[in-house]
Amino acid sequence: MLREAFYWLHKATTRAGWFQAFHLVLFSMCRLLPVPLAIERIRIVALRSKESDTMKVMKDARNALELIRDSDRRRFQRIRRNVGWIVFGAWKNFGFYSPFARVCGLRSRPRPDDEQVAAVFFACLLVHESTHGLLERKRFSYTSKNRIRLERICLAEEQRFLSRFPKEKPAVQKLLRKKSTTTDPGIASFHSAQ
Ligand SMILES: [Zn+2]
Repeated sequence: MLREAFYWLHKATTRAGWFQAFHLVLFSMCRLLPVPLAIERIRIVALRSKESDTMKVMKDARNALELIRDSDRRRFQRIRRNVGWIVFGAWKNFGFYSPFARVCGLRSRPRPDDEQVAAVFFACLLVHESTHGLLERKRFSYTSKNRIRLERICLAEEQRFLSRFPKEKPAVQKLLRKKSTTTDPGIASFHSAQ
C-alpha cells in the first residue's frame, strides 16, 4: 500500500513520470501506422527506417520472440503480460521500457550479421526490458536511489536467459557490453548492461 502510494507520488511529481505519460500519448499514435506486425498480440513497429531495414528488424523481432517462446515459457509469459508494443528506432540506448504505454523500445543498431546471434541479442534485451515491466507492475518505481538495484535484477534475468545459448553467448555478450552511457531522465529504464 505504501509502495503503491510512493509509486504514484513519484510518477506524478517527477519529470520521468510526466514523460511516461507523454509516451502513452505518443505511442498511442503508433496505432495509426499501417498494420504493424503482431506476434501473440505484441505489436511491432519500426520508426524512421528504410524499408529494407524495417524488414530486417521485423524479422529479428519475430525470431527473438519465437526463440523465447520456444525456449523459456515463463519469461515469454512475462513479455506477453508487460509488453504491448515493441518499437524499433534510433534510440540513444539499447532499450527502454515505458510502463504506461507498455512499450519496449529497442535500438535497431548495432544489428549482428548472424541471424541466430541477432535473435539471441534482441531476445536478451526483451527479457531485460520486460523485467523492468514486471518491477513497474509490482510498483517498484525507478528512482535514482534504487536504479542500480533494479538494473541488477534485470541484468541477472537477461544473463540467466543468455546462459541457455552457450554458442551465441560470447558474441552477444560482446554486443551487450557496448553500452551507451547517455541517459535520458524521461525514460523509465535503460538497458545498461552493467
Ligand atoms: Zn535496464
